Amino acid sequence: MSQPKPPTPIIDDRTDYDAVVVGASLAGCAAAIQLGRAGLRVAVIEKQPDPQAFKRMCSHFIQASGVPAIERLGLLEEIEAAGGLRPQIHMWTKWGWIEAPPERAGRGLNLRREVLDPMVRSTAAATPGVEMLLGWSAERLLREGGGFGGVVARNREGTELELRGRLTIGADGRDSKVAELSAVPVKTYPHNRIAYGGYFEGPPPQFSPDSSVWFLDPHWAAAFPTDSDLTFYAAMPTKDRLPEFKADPEAALIKFVADVPEAPPILESRAIEPVLGKLDMTNRMRKPVAPGLALIGDAALATDPLFGVGCGWAFQSAEWLAGAVRPGLQGEESLEQGLERYRRRHARELRGHAFLIHDYANGRHLSPPERLMFSAAARDPRTAELFDTLGSRRKRPQQVMPRIIPRAVAVNARHALTR
Ligand SMILES: Cc1cc2nc3c(=O)[nH]c(=O)nc-3n(C[C@H](O)[C@H](O)[C@H](O)COP(=O)(O)OP(=O)(O)OC[C@H]3O[C@@H](n4cnc5c(N)ncnc54)[C@H](O)[C@@H]3O)c2cc1C
Repeated sequence: MSQPKPPTPIIDDRTDYDAVVVGASLAGCAAAIQLGRAGLRVAVIEKQPDPQAFKRMCSHFIQASGVPAIERLGLLEEIEAAGGLRPQIHMWTKWGWIEAPPERAGRGLNLRREVLDPMVRSTAAATPGVEMLLGWSAERLLREGGGFGGVVARNREGTELELRGRLTIGADGRDSKVAELSAVPVKTYPHNRIAYGGYFEGPPPQFSPDSSVWFLDPHWAAAFPTDSDLTFYAAMPTKDRLPEFKADPEAALIKFVADVPEAPPILESRAIEPVLGKLDMTNRMRKPVAPGLALIGDAALATDPLFGVGCGWAFQSAEWLAGAVRPGLQGEESLEQGLERYRRRHARELRGHAFLIHDYANGRHLSPPERLMFSAAARDPRTAELFDTLGSRRKRPQQVMPRIIPRAVAVNARHALTR
């Protein structure tokens, strides 16, 4: 029996990076750009060899919370020039549409990942101080003192490369190898819906260029207009609907979307690519730091895509990390102080949102407090506006709940009396 081929010995030993980033998608490239601009030396390794590679399973509605971080990277103009849209969300509920007043609604971003990912990657690669290594996969973590100090990467020929850095950053997505190797604590929460979606050309949906989502309780559907006059139609039914989607993904998606109330024009549209599906979206929340190591984007927190938060949070968490560790990497304080600041910020900004998202991800129906908020938001523009600050993740649940709940009670009481 033939023995497995041992990896070719390490060909190089680079010791002088400030940070080694694993993953050249949204989070990894955003962090590299920020750190490079601060005058630091950064290596980014990415297992995909193609600079044009992009994440295929994503409906890329970027919530308004993520837009300022993208703007600070200097990418907003380029995104808009590439046809990126600035939509608000119109949300169908059985009580009516929830629509924040347009002048006060959160404006997100929508650009296909096929365009966005290479754009962010080329900006990172062109940033002074950033070295982009494509076609290298992180295999092992290096230890330095009491913590982590870089990675051993391997390419498809089996050649290994040792990259040492004072900070190792895992930006390698929801199945993060860096997280697994570093054994940071992880909590998982079940996800009981499936996701299917695809690009269609045809007449624009109602509200276009804005996006529409349908809370069918417990199922969910969406129409996301995007660049190039395309619409990404998506369905997230509970898992019991899997057989029909598995049998014929395109036919099942079209039927599902065509059956929603006030349906968008999917029957008059044509799929331009195969409809794709994702079956396992278990929510994962990891401790985002360990000595000499940090996780950003999905590697730190991979939540239910139903609420479209992952891309924005990838940009935001990258910015929080880069800001927090810069003084430590420049010798102004210990690195661990910055990592602790990042851990606290990540928890403060995202934990409340994650709690609500994980709770709904199990495929249940809307709870009584959710029904209260949804129904009042459909009836009252001011409640819709508050609701939108929460949904677009511009405000934390702790900030919104004390205001929206009393208002929703009053709105619904008035509604009941009027009837
Ligand atoms: C069905 C679905 C729909 C979604 N829709 C939306 C939406 O509408 N809006 C939204 O905001 N979010 C959405 N998301 C979530 C969004 O796609 C992610 O949150 C986002 O891509 C996270 O970015 P990231 O940079 O953290 O990780 P990723 O984009 O997952 O990138 C990880 C990178 O790491 C690389 N990598 C992995 N392992 C290694 C390794 N060992 N060595 C080197 N490189 C490695 C990968 O090749 C990849 O380039 C959706 C997700 C799903 C599944």
